[in-house]
Amino acid sequence: MKNTEYIAKVLVSEEQIKARVSEMAAEVNAHYREVGADELIVIGILRGAVVLLVDLIRELDMPLKLDFMAISSYGGGTTSSGNVRVLKDAAEDIRGKHVLIVEDIVDTGNTLQCLLQLLQAREPASLKVCALLDKPARRKVDIKADFSGFDIPDEFVVGYGLDFNSLYRDLPFIGVLKPEYYAK
Ligand code: 5GP
Repeated sequence: MKNTEYIAKVLVSEEQIKARVSEMAAEVNAHYREVGADELIVIGILRGAVVLLVDLIRELDMPLKLDFMAISSYGGGTTSSGNVRVLKDAAEDIRGKHVLIVEDIVDTGNTLQCLLQLLQAREPASLKVCALLDKPARRKVDIKADFSGFDIPDEFVVGYGLDFNSLYRDLPFIGVLKPEYYAK
């Protein structure tokens, strides 16, 4: 059992995440069946999307290749800027392939917009996004994940892959830290 005394509140429980990830997997399966995709390339965005990725892919029912990208957004603090830098690029050639990006959260939308532009230029057959969380109140660019788990309020959350100072990714739920832990 994990010690979670640093959590002020749970926004999305483990049970809610499990149920919604299964629903999202069903939506993804239905979509790619409909478009007749015989293979999918799933690109997980390191490191926040890893927990969603491993849960999601085990419920997908088409042949898929797993790939990863790591990107960093310029600018400090807890808000991303309009620029992203590719720290690790995908290994697969995505030209003519169906590609699903798996992201942890869409916040301002800057990261996703840059990523979509970058990958679209490689001419995939299709490019879709699956994200666990969405913070619509903070959006700066008009963009939305094709498969989205939960809308959450404007709070900085941790857990299920999301970190603060690289900690808390292992929590099975999405929660908000007690203020004193954000100050650390
Ligand atoms: P955007 O470019 O949409 O503003 O931000 C996207 C990235 O910022 C996410 O992939 C995530 O890494 C980080 N981020 C945004 N909101 C949160 C949050 O509430 N908690 C954590 N841990 N990361 C966040």
